[in-house]
Parts: sequence; structure tokens; C-alpha cells
Amino acid sequence: MRTVDADELLKSVRESAKRAEEWLADCKAYHSAMTARAEQAILTFNECALRIKNAPTVDAEPVKRGHWIYHPDWQADGECGYECSECGMGSDVDYQFCMRCGAKMDGKEGDQNG
Ligand SMILES: [Zn+2]
Repeated sequence: MRTVDADELLKSVRESAKRAEEWLADCKAYHSAMTARAEQAILTFNECALRIKNAPTVDAEPVKRGHWIYHPDWQADGECGYECSECGMGSDVDYQFCMRCGAKMDGKEGDQNG
């Protein structure tokens, strides 16, 4: 399963429907033989929008991301060598998740929220 931002997807499909409506206007003016296809495209986009709008939802939380800040000077003094960028917890090992705040440690230095 893949979670997506349904509002953004809906916006994208509605933009496609709007372009199809512009195409329909051109068809009516210059290519009347294509009018039925343009009308069908609009119906298809509107059906997609309705399906997205009515799709079931799942509970999902945004993933908190961080990274380990390596402190060789701390390690040399016998302290933890790594610091969580999100909560500041020290660790001897650069685990995949911070054990205090739960951040997934795949963010990069300078990233927003990580
Ligand atoms: Zn943390």
C-alpha cells in the first residue's frame, strides 16, 4: 500500500478536466469530429475525481525524520558519539531510529525537519 495526498491528486485531476474542457471548446470551434472524444475525456476525469474524493482513508502519521550528528570530540571524552538532530539524545550507535523521539534517521543535515 502507498499513502498519497488525495487533496493534491484531486487538484491534479481537476486541472486535467479543465484542460479537457478547453480542448472541448477548441473541438467545437474547429474539429467537430473530435467533440465526442473531448466530452468523454471530461467525463472520465470527473469520474476519476469522484473516485478519489470517495476513496477510503487509512490512519497515517507523517514520519518524523532526523539524522545523527557525529561528535568525535564527545566520543574521545568517553561520551556518546552521536546526537539526535531532533531531540538531542546521545547514542553510542547510529541506529535507524532515535529511541527517545522516534525520528527516522534518514534525514540529511540542512533538510527541513531533519
Ligand atoms: Zn531524537
